[in-house]
Amino acid sequence: MTPEPGGVPAAEVEPSAAGLLTPSVRAAAGALRPGELPCYVYDLTALRTHAASVRRALPRAVELYYAAKANPEPAILAALEPFTDGYEVSSGGELEHVRAAAPGHPLAFSGPGKTPAELSAALGAGVERIHAESLHEVRMLAALAAATASTGRPPVRVLLRVDVPVDHGVLSGSALTMGGRPSPFGMSLEEASEALRLLAGDGCPGLVPAGIHAHLASGLDAPTLLRVARAVAGAAADLAARHRLAAPEAVVGGGMAVDYGRPGERFDWEGYGAGLGRLARTHPGLRLRIEPGRSLTAYCGWYVTEVLDVKRSHGEDVAVVRGGTHHLRTPAAKGHDQPAAVVAVEEWGHPWPRPAAGGARVTVAGQLCTPKDVLARAVPAPGLRAGDRVVFAMAGAYAWNISHRDFLMHPPPGFRFV
Ligand SMILES: *Cc1c(COP(=O)(O)O)cnc(C)c1O
Repeated sequence: MTPEPGGVPAAEVEPSAAGLLTPSVRAAAGALRPGELPCYVYDLTALRTHAASVRRALPRAVELYYAAKANPEPAILAALEPFTDGYEVSSGGELEHVRAAAPGHPLAFSGPGKTPAELSAALGAGVERIHAESLHEVRMLAALAAATASTGRPPVRVLLRVDVPVDHGVLSGSALTMGGRPSPFGMSLEEASEALRLLAGDGCPGLVPAGIHAHLASGLDAPTLLRVARAVAGAAADLAARHRLAAPEAVVGGGMAVDYGRPGERFDWEGYGAGLGRLARTHPGLRLRIEPGRSLTAYCGWYVTEVLDVKRSHGEDVAVVRGGTHHLRTPAAKGHDQPAAVVAVEEWGHPWPRPAAGGARVTVAGQLCTPKDVLARAVPAPGLRAGDRVVFAMAGAYAWNISHRDFLMHPPPGFRFV
């Protein structure tokens, strides 16, 4: 921690993401004019560096699919392509978008409630893998496959999404839990067995029973995710042996933790990769795959905006910025303070006094007419002024694309790729 001239530790007077601003994002934040704000700035160089380090930490035998729903921007998909073995898509819309943005990169089609039209589109588009969520879905897929068998389409590998049992309590620390409780996701191991029997039968031309797919929770640390991976790989190896699967696969999920409260921390990819290496040696012949989303792209995105006004309200400083949670819903959706940095702007074009914070901590709110439109509370930003830039970090995943953009009809943000 660098002491400030006044002897106060920097962490107490600087917002949490101040030290993380990359030079290109800082330059963009200073150069963008008010009319160009708010603006999402994506640092593609930082994304490539991060993805390369994730790839290096993983054993060569483990495949990496990026879960496109975290951020499907074509420039992001393109930047990730060299470091990934494929993309995981979760709807017919994502399938079409990602196929067009990254033609030729392998796809796995997941998600609950796939419609007949979506499954037909997946077969027609030649997706490499389908992750089936229920027996009904497998039966529908079989019927569609039989109806299109004569079209000469390439075979599709089918993985069954399974709610694999893991030790009691392992998933309870997660922010988003899909497995181990009532949910629309996946099927039991018994149903997966039945689905594998069905797929091996005569009625499924061009469908290859390939293994199991699990994504049980998001927001888990490396030791917890390794326990999940061991349970999934064990179940997959067992099913593969019982059903004599050729070239069996197990997807052990995404969900690597991203800690918005400690923006400098990263998921322990080295430890996780080493654990997956041990797991791969325990189950030779089983192809392991992971499908992270948030942990790949969260750090490369920044939401840059400017302070429009600063006021004193009931003893606290409140800054109102251009934009808000209708562009960056993440803090409202997850109930956290979005990590921020401040880039000071010296010009002030008005003859009247410049609104400025009198205290050391400022609550940063957006332009929406709702008290829920708060991006960060108690940000250490003493003296924050109207016209200064506030740059929100960790806005590269589940940010713009989960936001209720039309509420109040403010203009959309700009987008820059640096
Ligand atoms: C969303 C999702 C992922 C990615 O989850 P992250 O928490 O973003 O890593 C992976 N697999 C499936 C099936 C998903 O639905």
